[in-house]
Amino acid sequence: MQLLDKINDNKAYDIVYNFVEKYQGKFPADLLGELSRLLSIKYKITMDAMTLREVSQIIWDKIEQENKLVKLAKLERDLKRDTSSQDYYCEVCNVKLPKTEYDYSMTNFGKSLCLHHQREKRASPHALKLYEAMRKRGVFCELESYNSSKHIDIAVRDARLYIGIDGEHHNLDPEQLVIDLMKDEESSKEGFATKRYSLKEIDESLDGIADALTEVIKQRAKKFQQEKFFPQESIKNF
Ligand SMILES: [Zn+2]
Repeated sequence: MQLLDKINDNKAYDIVYNFVEKYQGKFPADLLGELSRLLSIKYKITMDAMTLREVSQIIWDKIEQENKLVKLAKLERDLKRDTSSQDYYCEVCNVKLPKTEYDYSMTNFGKSLCLHHQREKRASPHALKLYEAMRKRGVFCELESYNSSKHIDIAVRDARLYIGIDGEHHNLDPEQLVIDLMKDEESSKEGFATKRYSLKEIDESLDGIADALTEVIKQRAKKFQQEKFFPQESIKNF
C-alpha cells in the first residue's frame, strides 16, 4: 500500500491502472520506462521503472483478486439458475443493479459494477484512506462524488463541505491552480466550502486531519440543520 501511495494523483492512478489492465501482468520494460517519464513530467511523480514495475504488480494482484471474486459471483448466479436476461449484477459483490446503473458502469468502466465498486475503482489511494478514516469516525460522506460537472474526491453534504486531495502538480502548475480556484468558487456559490489537502499532509497526519474534520463537520451539520428549520429571516422577526 505504501508503494501504491506514491501514485498520488487521480488521473495518474487511472493511467497506471489502465496500463496494468492492458498488459495483464506482463509489463514491457521499454513501456515502463516511458510511463515513468510520463509520470515525472506530467504529474511530478518520481518513480524509476523498477519501482513502477513493483507498483504495477501490486495493482495487478488486486485486479486478479477481484477477477477471482468475479468468477465466483458468476458461478453463484449460474447456480441460482436465474435465466432472466433482464437482471444485472455487480461483478464484484453480486448485488442487483438497475438497468441505468448497469448501462452507466458498462460505458464508463467496461464492466458491470455497483456504485460502491465504481467509486472504489476510481478513487485514488489517498482519497480512499481519508474516506475510510472519516467513516470510521461515524461521518457520513461520499467518495468520488459528482456535482453538476465537477468531480469531488469526498463530499459531506450535511456539512456542505467538499474535500479535495491533490497531487503536487495542483500547487505547481498554474493552469491546474486556475482550474481548482474556479471550481472552488463555483462550489462556494452553490453553498459548499472546499478544503484541499496535499498528499503529504494525508501521509503525515491522516488521523489528526480526520479528527479535526469530524469535529468541524459535526458543527457545520448542526448549524445548517438549525438554519433549515429556523432560517435567519424568521429569527430576525422574533
Ligand atoms: Zn459491488
